[in-house]
Formats: sequence, structure tokens, C-alpha cells
Amino acid sequence: MADGATGELGRIGLKRPDLFREQCYIDGKWTGDPTHLVHNPATGGLIGRIPNLGKSETERAVAAAEAALPKWRAQHAKARAEIMDRWCALMVKHQEDLARLMTAEQGKPLAEARGEVVYAGAFFEWFGEEAKRTYGDLIPGPAADRRIMVMKQAVGVVGAITPWNFPAAMITRKVGPAIAAGCTAVLKPSELTPYSALAIALLGEEAGLPPGVFNIVTGDAEPIGRVLTEDPRVAKFTFTGSTPVGKKLAQQCASTVKRVSLELGGNAPFLIFNDADLEAAAAGAIISKFRNTGQTCVCANRFFVQDGIYDAFAKLLAEKAGELVVGDGLAGVTQQGPLINDKALQKVEAHVADAIGHGAKVLAGARRDSHGGTFYQPTVLRDVAPDALLCREETFGPVAGLVRFKDEADAIRMANDSCAGLAAYAYTRDLSRSWRVSEGLEYGMIGMNTGLISSEVLPFGGVKESGIGREGSKYGIEEFLEVKSIVLQL
Ligand code: ADP
Repeated sequence: MADGATGELGRIGLKRPDLFREQCYIDGKWTGDPTHLVHNPATGGLIGRIPNLGKSETERAVAAAEAALPKWRAQHAKARAEIMDRWCALMVKHQEDLARLMTAEQGKPLAEARGEVVYAGAFFEWFGEEAKRTYGDLIPGPAADRRIMVMKQAVGVVGAITPWNFPAAMITRKVGPAIAAGCTAVLKPSELTPYSALAIALLGEEAGLPPGVFNIVTGDAEPIGRVLTEDPRVAKFTFTGSTPVGKKLAQQCASTVKRVSLELGGNAPFLIFNDADLEAAAAGAIISKFRNTGQTCVCANRFFVQDGIYDAFAKLLAEKAGELVVGDGLAGVTQQGPLINDKALQKVEAHVADAIGHGAKVLAGARRDSHGGTFYQPTVLRDVAPDALLCREETFGPVAGLVRFKDEADAIRMANDSCAGLAAYAYTRDLSRSWRVSEGLEYGMIGMNTGLISSEVLPFGGVKESGIGREGSKYGIEEFLEVKSIVLQL
């Protein structure tokens, strides 16, 4: 166990210490020897341990989910919704504890973590309600004495793998619709941020989830992933993470032709036109780029700024970026936490060096922060070449690179020049342009005059290599439902 009151755990200061779980959750039981170490990215300190489970335990979790399925699926949606509602309420009730735990394991500022807890809980409430409305169809048959009925049924056992950047919301956005629809689930959270997931499981138990409906396995990603993608008892696999891992897992799913949802990397363009409200655009850019220290898949990654306002926008953005307070997320004033690990820091440094090598000029940051570790200063670069690494790949860090453009067609062409297609943003006060740009951008989500798009009511997802399927909204529950047709001969 971590060293209680004096170590990282003491600093987190949970009002309900039992929300900190160091065991996995399978078939309603806490299980596994905690051997794998989990550290706080802000301090490097040890938070605690988690079990290092593998194939056989994952198979056990799948068996538990399969056993729990018939009873859970057979209940009326209203009964499931009551539990989902309580689950949401418990998350809100324990918002502060969950937020502190999240900040400690992930590094994001406490204010962002508090927001994520409420956002994450909202998926339980929303999908509990949506599950009541999974309507079918009555189709006039192809002959006078034939009728066709269409009903929607829960897919079955769901396997889910989630990343570290939103340790709570990425889980509830998958597990919420799955469980509300009548599926049961086995989740592997990121090994970097397991404690939010385990606390959510505890609250699910308190909300009244029967054993086996929601199971959590932590440990070695490869063997756990193999079971969740290849076991024939798993009917649906849902993943959020990097594009290369997503492609590999989708291939594995092909062996049993599973339903698959993927939410993969983005490379979001952010377009600012001459007619934009510059203050609003800069504020939106800060939110979109620097939220979670640039570690969201919808973070703006490439800024395309029109000639006429280029210099003014660059100056404004650099000023605002320079004002962001960098530090440990648990210190209340922090606006920029650390990067998740050394690998992330190295990628950011490589992208900045490459951009500068291609002629970019530094307006803010471009260096490690005095807090040490993986802290990096909010960075703004101007005159970035469109073929710099910063534009070709997702940086996943606090670096805004500005590229100049002349006309609208030019901007849309550069914005679409990517194999990613998750989120895109544009600022313009011209109504016609806003439509043209929204329709022209090859992205799943467009933030028009806003840098913040996510909510539980938004169909979240991408096109091209950014993924398959949508999460959240009325569309999100369809990912966990099968369409069954019944042909009736009168
Ligand atoms: P990131 O680069 O954001 O960490 P990853 O795709 O590596 O994204 O990780 C997202 C999730 O996928 C994590 O839970 C991680 O443990 C898991 N993961 C990584 N590699 C594999 C794999 N080969 N099989 C199954 N899961 C994996």
C-alpha cells in the first residue's frame, strides 16, 4: 500500500478514503494483488498500486459479464435508468474526491477535473433516459398479408479499452450507453489512470449495479486486449486511444466479426478568418489548444490564420498563452498541469525543434518549465511550415503553431490535408462562410465560433482514420443495440 497520510495519498486528502481502490472489480468482488506502481505525473510520487492481471482473469471477467447479461438485459429500461441516475448522483456527490484522485493520477488542473466528473456522470443520466426510447419500427410488408417489425436489442457483452487523458469521461461515455441499453461490460482503463475507473465501479456498486454487469481488469494491455477483441463471448468492442493501437485492435476484432467503435487520434485544424471576432477567437483557441495541457484528441493542433489578422492574432494568442499558470494540478490556481510522461514530453520537444528547424519563430514558451519533470511551457510558434511535424502529426501537448493563409478555399484545402478527421474549428462572423466552411471541412465535429464542443448531448466521433461510430447523444446508444427484424405472415 502507498504510505497513507504522508505520501501522495495524504496530499490527495480524500474525504472518503475507501474510494481509493487498489484491486480490480470482477463479478462484484474486489480482486487481484496490487503489484503495478502508479505515479503522480506532477510530482513523480507513488500514489499506489494496481493488479497486473492477464488473460485468465480477463476471461473470468468476460464469463461474469456473460452470466449477468440475461437478467440485466431482461429488465425494463426504467429499472436500469433508476440505477444509472443514482450512479450519476453519487458521482456528483463525490465530485471533490473523484476530482482530486483524477488530478493526482492524470495531472490536469483541479478545476478541469471537477468539470470532468460532472461531465462524466452526465453520460449515466443521459443514457439511462435514452434507453427508454430505443424505439423500433413497423414497416408495411412487401405483400398485403405481410408485416415487418423492427426491434432494438442490447448487443451483449461489451469489451472496452480507454485512455488516460479523460480518466472518467472516456469510461462513462462507453459504459453508460452500454449498461443502460442492457449490455454488460468488461473495461480495461489505462494503467496510468486506473483509480478514477475503480472509484466509479465502487459507486456503481453503491448505486445498485448487480455483480458482473460492470467489470474492471487492469494489467498487461496486450493479453487483456486479445481477450476483449478475440473472445467470441464479447459481442462488441469499443476503444478510445491512439490510431496505431486502434487499427491493430480492429484487426483483432475481425477474427470474430465484432461490432467495433473506435475513437482515435485527431489533428484538429483551427481556422481564423479576417472577419472573426479576434478576442473570441483567441479565447476559443486557448480553451481548445491548452485544455488538459493540449492532451485531448479534439485539441486544436494546427492554426490557420488569414493574412489580414495574422499578426494581431499571433500577438494576442501569445499574450494569453503566456498568462497561463503552470504547476501541480492539486494547487488550486493551476491552469496547465504536467504532460503525462517522458514520452509525451519528448514528442512535444521533437515537434517544436522540427518546426523551428523549418523556419518557425517562437512567440511564447518553447522550453521546459521551471517546475521540472514533464512540465512544458505553453508555447506559441508563428510562421510554421505546413509540412512541419507539428502539422502532420498530433502533438498532444501545449504547442500552438500558426500557419498563414490567403483565401477560404486555400484554408479548407490545408485543413483537409490530413488522414485524421475528428474535430475542426473556425471563427468567422460571416454567416454564409460559416455554412460553407462547416460543409467543406472533412471532420466529424465542427466548432463554429467556439473552442469547446464536448457534452453528453453531442454526437462525438470522427471520419477518416479518426474512427468509427459516435459516442454521446441519441446516436451513442445505437452503438450498443442490434436491429432485429421480424417478418409476420398474417
Ligand atoms: P496513448 O498513446 O494515448 O496512451 P494508447 O493507444 O497507447 O494511447 O492507449 C490507449 C489504451 O489502449 C490504454 O488503455 C492502453 O493500455 C491500451 N493499449 C495500448 N496498447 C494496447 C494493445 N496492444 N492491446 C490492447 N490495449 C492496448
